[in-house]
Amino acid sequence: MPVGPLARRRSRQVDIRWGSRVVRVGGDAPVVVQSMTNTDTADPIATAIQVKALAQAGSEVVRITVNSPEAAREVITLREQLDRMGVDVPLVGDFHYNGHKLLTQFPDCAKALSKYRINPGNVGTSSRRDGNFAQMIEVAAMHGKPVRIGVNWGSLDQSLLARLMDENAARAKPFDAMQVMREALVTSAIDSAIQAEALGLPGNAIILSAKVSNVQDVVAVYRELARRCDYPLHVGLTEAGMGSKGIVASTAALSVLLQEGIGDTIRVSLTPEPGGDRTREVIVAQEILQTMGLRAFTPLVIACPGCGRTSSTFFQELAEHIQTFLRTQMPVWRANYPGVESMQVAVMGCVVNGPGESRHADIGISLPGAGEAPVAPVFVDGERTVTLKGDHIAQEFQAIVENYVHRRYGGFAGVSATTESAAQNA
Ligand code: SF4
Repeated sequence: MPVGPLARRRSRQVDIRWGSRVVRVGGDAPVVVQSMTNTDTADPIATAIQVKALAQAGSEVVRITVNSPEAAREVITLREQLDRMGVDVPLVGDFHYNGHKLLTQFPDCAKALSKYRINPGNVGTSSRRDGNFAQMIEVAAMHGKPVRIGVNWGSLDQSLLARLMDENAARAKPFDAMQVMREALVTSAIDSAIQAEALGLPGNAIILSAKVSNVQDVVAVYRELARRCDYPLHVGLTEAGMGSKGIVASTAALSVLLQEGIGDTIRVSLTPEPGGDRTREVIVAQEILQTMGLRAFTPLVIACPGCGRTSSTFFQELAEHIQTFLRTQMPVWRANYPGVESMQVAVMGCVVNGPGESRHADIGISLPGAGEAPVAPVFVDGERTVTLKGDHIAQEFQAIVENYVHRRYGGFAGVSATTESAAQNA
């Protein structure tokens, strides 16, 4: 029996637009990668620079904080700046507490955003909640903007939670508190969506999320959301954490859900190191989707871990060099060499698995391990071609990869001078 992902959950399709750019979420569209800035939106230049970096890294939608009149006023400046820079990525405004005021008092902001994120737990206290929520939904409907109703367990609607807790306490066999919390997340998201539709927002303009920071909870909550509604789902852990912990937790949660066909758009909410690169969250999201075989973004480098047979750090340096080279080429290659994102490049440390793994890849190199002759055979499309040696193996292998990309994905045959010289040196 074949083993593979279950069928994708069938959801409605929501279109997020800016200009001629349309990002489709849900339906049979591929899973969309999104990210969020951490700059002050009231500083449109700093924010534009970060949005551009995130978009160039592959973020298909970028969310920005809109938390003050100063930020709301600058959203139009930011949008115009991005348009001048040729960056047409749709912007999503993240609203809490005062979104109803900002969206009504700053109509240019409301128009320049391509989607609004509304947290139903943060739209006001009980007497004002419905009115504030309705104001934001009416602005979205008026401007034809989709909305993500984003519930978060750190800001769950407390009146709803209290009601569900009371109902649970009255049961003969009450559920535990975490089960009630999960139910409150799901109920808050779905009830808010139904309320938004009743206020005039079309059903195909609503995306749902219900984020928590624990892997088992996020899996349980999204399974239940997927069972009870057909709105597209934005999936991710909230506050995934820093470094490897954040990456592992996000990967664990997303892998389970995506494998079950749940999830139409993802964000990996990594905490960057101080001064760290915000684009890391985009690369991790892409790598999750690509290693699961759901999408392809950048050629993959297959490298062995190295061991006592690895003769020097040259092997790690070459693997890193090739991975960086491939990623930096992608903005140009994506346009000129369709299909290159599915290419696999093997960089292996010795003869034990080197030739075999290199043969399985599109192009591979097997470096000499300790005690082996100082030569590095190169394999292309499963066949051994040249053998590199000397001080310029890295440059020569890079040239061979570059030439392979031209030849295989560029629609023409040709051997570059560098590759010829590499072959002559062999
Ligand atoms: S391919 Fe060679 S160097 Fe790499 S892990 Fe295997 S035995 Fe070690």
